[in-house]
Amino acid sequence: MITGKNQIGNQQSALGSVTFKTYNPELNIENEQLFYEASEEEVDKAAELAKDAFKIYRNISGSKRATFLNAIADEILALDDLLIRTYCSETGLPEGRAKGERGRTVGQLRSFANLIEDENWRAPTIDEAIPNREPAPKPDLRKFLIPIGPIAVFGASNFPLAYSTAGGDTASALAAGCPVIVKSHPMHAGTGQLVATAVINAAQKTGMPDGVFSNLNSSGIEVGKQLVQHPHVKGVGFTGSIKGGRALYDLAAKRPEPIPVFAEMGSINPVIITENALKRRASELASTYADSITLGTGQFCTNPGLILSVESEAFSAFIQELGDKVIAKDPQCMLHPNIKKGYTNKRDLVSDQSGLQVVAEYYSELAENYAPPRITTVNGTEFLENSKLHEEVFGPFSLAVQCSDEDQLLKIIESLEGQLTGTIIAEDEDVPDLGVLVDTLRERVGRIIFNGVPTGVEVCESMTHGGPYPASTDSRFTAVGINAIRRWVRPFSYQDFPKALLPEVLK
Ligand code: NAP
Repeated sequence: MITGKNQIGNQQSALGSVTFKTYNPELNIENEQLFYEASEEEVDKAAELAKDAFKIYRNISGSKRATFLNAIADEILALDDLLIRTYCSETGLPEGRAKGERGRTVGQLRSFANLIEDENWRAPTIDEAIPNREPAPKPDLRKFLIPIGPIAVFGASNFPLAYSTAGGDTASALAAGCPVIVKSHPMHAGTGQLVATAVINAAQKTGMPDGVFSNLNSSGIEVGKQLVQHPHVKGVGFTGSIKGGRALYDLAAKRPEPIPVFAEMGSINPVIITENALKRRASELASTYADSITLGTGQFCTNPGLILSVESEAFSAFIQELGDKVIAKDPQCMLHPNIKKGYTNKRDLVSDQSGLQVVAEYYSELAENYAPPRITTVNGTEFLENSKLHEEVFGPFSLAVQCSDEDQLLKIIESLEGQLTGTIIAEDEDVPDLGVLVDTLRERVGRIIFNGVPTGVEVCESMTHGGPYPASTDSRFTAVGINAIRRWVRPFSYQDFPKALLPEVLK
């Protein structure tokens, strides 16, 4: 049941005086339920409980933590239609998307459960002693990975389930042995509370310590700031804007004890199309990319926001066809009036830049929170000179850049900020000449897709969802797939330890 209260360990609590409501963007009205923003005292209580829970939770066996994660997945599924209805009423996203995202969330929890069933994920290594080594004896050293402590997780607006309350950040941190305090996203606080209840039910059924999980409401930045600055919090997971992620990163760095912030932020995901591909299958590519750009109303961090090719008749024709196909699609609802406002402002700011041309425009009247898609184009020189054109427009928008030649195309790629993905669309006969392009693109991105679209992030071990700043704050890690667990652990060594004091896996 949704009460609007905060979940502080096993207790629900509403001590604060600040309240807020979520919004139904489809109906353009506020939802009825009132939510109580966590007070300073409640944030502190959640952090104290997490600190105490960590002392127990870090020593609970992997197989028991796996049971906990699987139980969370079961409890989420048991929420059934109530969860789906609440999700849709708080996001404007369709039921199919809600169910798909629930499947992904449950799948992530189960894949982390599977990972920690044995201790190999801790990368145990043993270097046995050589007492008679000359000139000095070699000590016995045994190393593995240990959890870093309570983690603050910021729910993402665009993934109310898979990257929020019990999403990838929470699942990976709990799997690692770290308690989690979620700063619920205010746009879907009801969905967040339902999932939080599922986590608590699972924790109680599987005997996890009180404080292993808390869920805090807030409609402003204060709760998040207090959490990141709290001495008991030892790491942060975030998905959202560059402004928000950077602010939290700076805050964490200024603490007396700085802590890691793993923020996954903006990306325009460049797509490079060769002339041969344009000549051979421009129409098919225009359809595929019209679908990708408008998928989920463009509210994906992997949305293809930048399309590059050397100027040619074939590229001009492709850009026009893409524009026509994009505006022929039924516009869709955005997550929230503020996201829609952000989209309109940013889209218009970019569209107003010198040399930029709007390819096709949607003129019909739209319901309040619906977003008209837009395709724009500019030449490579203007793009290189204007950093505003390099910024993310979060929504169904893409900019096609017509480069003067291959050198300029490479220069543009080098000029881009760090990206989550890059895509190369090419024909077989192009392959022998793609080495320099791949090498240049690889420096700027976390993943390159060949002849596909960047939207759709497979959850598996080989996935990298991260990239050089500002795609993420630490390009050495991924936010998707089982290796996401590595963000919440540190290496630790035992030297010359008696066997009785060693953990089982290092004996
Ligand atoms: P956001 O503004 O970055 O907020 C994300 C979360 O961080 C919210 O819970 C927010 O709290 C908190 N937060 C933001 N700034 C903070 C600060 N200075 N101190 C403490 N907490 C802070 O992202 P959003 O609400 O999801 O969407 C806003 C815009 O972000 C979008 O329009 C889009 O441009 C971008 N975005 C990008 C991606 C991507 O994957 N590239 C994903 C989502 C959003 P409050 O909401 O309570 O203030």
